[in-house]
Amino acid sequence: MIQRLDPLTQRLLARSVPHGPLVLMYHSVVPGQSAPAWRWAVSMTRFIEQLDLLQAHGWTTANLTELLPTRPLPEKTVVITFDDGYADNYAAFEELAKRGMRATWFMVTRDIGQKSGWADEVPPQPMLSAEQLRIMHAAGMEIGSHTLSHCRLLKANAATVAEELVRSRQQLEQILSQPVTSFAYPYGQFDDAAVTAVREAGYQTACTTRPGWALRDGHPLRIRRISIFAGDTLSTVARKLVFADNDVSWRQLAAYYAGRLAHRLRLS
Ligand SMILES: [Zn+2]
Repeated sequence: MIQRLDPLTQRLLARSVPHGPLVLMYHSVVPGQSAPAWRWAVSMTRFIEQLDLLQAHGWTTANLTELLPTRPLPEKTVVITFDDGYADNYAAFEELAKRGMRATWFMVTRDIGQKSGWADEVPPQPMLSAEQLRIMHAAGMEIGSHTLSHCRLLKANAATVAEELVRSRQQLEQILSQPVTSFAYPYGQFDDAAVTAVREAGYQTACTTRPGWALRDGHPLRIRRISIFAGDTLSTVARKLVFADNDVSWRQLAAYYAGRLAHRLRLS
C-alpha cells in the first residue's frame, strides 16, 4: 500500500528550508514490502517510496565527495549512503539509476564478493561483488571505504588502524581504477586520533552516525548523517528531512518546541 504524508508533515515539509545538505544512511534493502526484523534494514517498497518522496519534493542527489566546498550545491541536496555493501543493495542501485539519482557506498573490502565476515546482529550476508561495484561506479555512483574488516577503530592499535584504512582504499582503487577518497567510520565510532588517521590514509570526506545537518561541524571528516530505520514511515522520513534528526516522533518534537517556548518566556 502506498503511504501518504500526514497533513501536518506535508505542511512542514513544504515550508522547510534546509540548513545545508543532508546525508541519509541505509544498510540492507530487503526485497518486498514487509518491515525487516533488523532495525537497520528497510524494505524495497519503503525504499522506493522514499526515493519518490525526495524527487517529488525537489531534492537533488549528490555523491559524498561533492560536499567538499568546491562549488555551491542546490539548496535541497541529499547524499544517499549505504554502509557495509550488502548484495541486496544492487537492486537499490538499479532503482536509483532508473531515476537518475546517485548514491555513495561504503564497502567492507575484505568481504567484497563473499559473505559479511564480522560479528554483527545479523547472520553473515552476501556482499556486492567487484564486478557489481564497477558497474555501479560507471553509472555515476561513488564507492568508498568502511575499512577492511568492519574494524572498531577506537579499539585497534595505530598500525592496525592504518592498515585497515590504507589497504581498503588501495583495494577499491584497484577494482575501480580511480582514486577513492570517501570513508565511513564502522559503528560510527571515531575520535580525534581516528580522524587524523583517516586523513593520513588519504581520505577527504568521512561520515559519522551523529545526526544533524551534514556540515554542521564544518569538518569534511566529521560529516553527520540521518539514519533510516526499518520502522520509519514516509511521514517520519519526511520529518527527518525537515529536522535533520533521527528522533522525529511528535512527542520529541513537542518537547523541543516546549523547550524553545520556555526559553523565550524566560528571556522576555
Ligand atoms: Zn557498518
